[in-house]
Amino acid sequence: MEAAGAAVFSVSEPLHIARAEGMMDVSVLPYEKKAKHLHVTLFENRTRKAYEPYSFDFVTNEPGSGSFVFYCSKEKGFSSAEKHVLDSLGSILQMYLGKLRMIQMMEKSSRTQIMTGLPNSNGYLREVAKYFADGRINCYDAYYFNLKGFGLVNRRFGQKEGNEIMKRYVRTLQNFFKDDELLGHLGGDNFVALVRKGRRRREFLNLLSGTEVYGMHGHVKEPVMIRAAAGIMTVKMPCLLDMIIDGPSIALVHAKRTRKPYVLYTEELNDQITRGKTVEQRFESALAKGEFAVFYQPKVNTVSGEIIGAEALTRWMEHGSPIPPGMFIPILEQSEKITRLDLAMMKTVCRDLAAWKGTGRQTVPVSVNFSRRDLSDPDLPEKILDIISSHQVDKKDIIVEVTETTNEEEKEQMTSFLTRLRRYGIKTSIDDFGTGYSSLSVLREFPVSEIKIDRSFINRNLDATDEIIIRSIIELAEKLKVDVITEGVETVVQRDFLHQVGCDRVQGFLYDRPLPKDSFESRLLSGSYQIDRKTDE
Ligand code: C2E
Ligand code: MG
Ligand code: MG
Repeated sequence: MEAAGAAVFSVSEPLHIARAEGMMDVSVLPYEKKAKHLHVTLFENRTRKAYEPYSFDFVTNEPGSGSFVFYCSKEKGFSSAEKHVLDSLGSILQMYLGKLRMIQMMEKSSRTQIMTGLPNSNGYLREVAKYFADGRINCYDAYYFNLKGFGLVNRRFGQKEGNEIMKRYVRTLQNFFKDDELLGHLGGDNFVALVRKGRRRREFLNLLSGTEVYGMHGHVKEPVMIRAAAGIMTVKMPCLLDMIIDGPSIALVHAKRTRKPYVLYTEELNDQITRGKTVEQRFESALAKGEFAVFYQPKVNTVSGEIIGAEALTRWMEHGSPIPPGMFIPILEQSEKITRLDLAMMKTVCRDLAAWKGTGRQTVPVSVNFSRRDLSDPDLPEKILDIISSHQVDKKDIIVEVTETTNEEEKEQMTSFLTRLRRYGIKTSIDDFGTGYSSLSVLREFPVSEIKIDRSFINRNLDATDEIIIRSIIELAEKLKVDVITEGVETVVQRDFLHQVGCDRVQGFLYDRPLPKDSFESRLLSGSYQIDRKTDE
C-alpha cells in the first residue's frame, strides 16, 4: 500500500490530486464466506482542499469489485485529459494490487487448511510460537485427535457431503473454543488443539467422545455422530515447539493401538514408541541372524519332583544379553510378524527335540506359545503340523499354547484352530486360564488338552473362596479329561496350597526360571528336583 501511495504521490502535483482512496469488496479465499471490505487512504495532501472525486472502478477475479477514488484539488474538477491519465494510473494500481493480493493469498494458504479454513500445521505452529513467546503455553494441554471412521461417513454421504459434514463438525468445535484457545486442521481427519488445562480437559474430551452434526441425503437431514480418539500432552516448559504436535501424536498412536478414547503423553510412552519402531525395523534381520533364542522353563510334578515338560519362551539375544518377550512381543503382535516369529520358535523347538532324541537323551513334551493374532492365518494348524513332521518329532512331544479369547470373532477362529490341531493329534493348552471373561465356557466349548491356571490366582493372600474356586476348576477339568497345570509358583506355600486343592503339576521360579538351552539340557540329565516337604503336612 505504501508503494501505491508513493506512485500516486509522484503524479499528484501535475494531476492536481488532493487525496486518493482505494476500496475493495472481495472474498479473500473461497472458504471465507464473508466478503472482505477494504478501504484505505493511499495518498492525502492536507494542505489541499479535496473537491469533486473521480472514480476508477474495476472487478477482480475472486469475484469482487473495487475502485480507486481520486479527489481533485481544483474546484472545477479533473479535465478529460487528466481523467484519461487517471484511468491509466488506476489500471497500473489494479495490476499492482492483484499481484499483492496473490502474494497474500499464497502466504495465507500456506498457513491454512483449504477446506475448513483452520490453521494447518504451519499456521498452527506459528500461532503456538506466540504462546511460547509470552510464556502462556504452560496454561494449556496440547491435543492431537483423529476422527473415528470418517471414511465410512464419506462412503455413506459421498465425498462432497462428507466435506460439508466435516465443516459442520469444525464449526461445532469452534463454538466450544475460547478466544485464547487454538484449533488446527492438519488435513484429512487429523486435528490439533490447545485447550486450557483443568476442567476444560474433561469438557473437551466429552465433546470429542461424541458430537452430533447432520448430513444431507438428498433433501433429508440425517444425524451423524462424530467420535474422535485423542492424544494429550500437558505442556511443561522446557519444551520444543515441534513437541506441541509430536507429543500428543505419539500418545494418539498409543490410544489407537490400545483402543482407548484418549491417552496422556509421558516420557515412558515416547521411549516405548521409539523402541517399537526399532523392534519393527530390526525384526527381519534379527530373525535372519538367529538372534531369537528359545529358553526352556521346566514343568514339574510337585509330588515326585520329576520334570514332566517344559515351556519354550523366546528371548531376543541382542549383543549377547536376553531381552524378555514383554519388550517386543506386543509390538510384533501388531502385525503378522508375530506369526513369523512363532513359527520360527516352533522350528527351533522341533530341531532341539530331534537333536535330543538323536543323541538318545530323554525328552519331555515342550509347550510352544502362539499369539492369538496368529489365529488369523487360516493355514496355521497345517503349518505347525508340517514343521513337526519335517523334523520327525513325535506329535506327543509338542503342546501348542494359546491364551484365552475375549471376543466372538476370535472364538470362532480359536475353535477352528483347536479342532484342527486335535484332528492332527497335536495337544493344545489354554494359557493364562482365568484371566479371560468366560473361562468356564472355555472348558465347555474348546477342544483343549490342558489348561494353564494363571499366576494371578495364586500370587495373592489365598483365602477360603480362592480355595473353593481353584478346587472346582481342577475337579471340573479332571472330569472333562483336561490336564491342569499352574504357572508362576514361587513359594513352598503356594505349592502346598496347590497340592491341597489337587494340582501337582506346576511351573515357576520355585523350581527354575526359563533356562538357556544348555542349562535345560543339564537339568534334563539330572532328571528331577529335590522335594522339600517341610510345610506339607
Ligand atoms: P506365558 O506364556 O504365560 O509365560 C509365562 C511367563 O511367566 C514367562 O515370562 C515366565 O518367565 C514367567 N514366569 C514363569 N514362572 C514364573 C514365576 O514363578 N513368577 C513369575 N513372576 N513369573 C514367572 P516371559 O518369558 O517373560 O514371557 C512372557 C510372555 O510372553 C509369555 O507368557 C507369553 O505370553 C509371551 N511369549 C514368550 N515367548 C513367546 C513366543 O515364542 N511366542 C509368543 N507368541 N509369545 C511368547
Ligand atoms: Mg505360555
Ligand atoms: Mg501364562
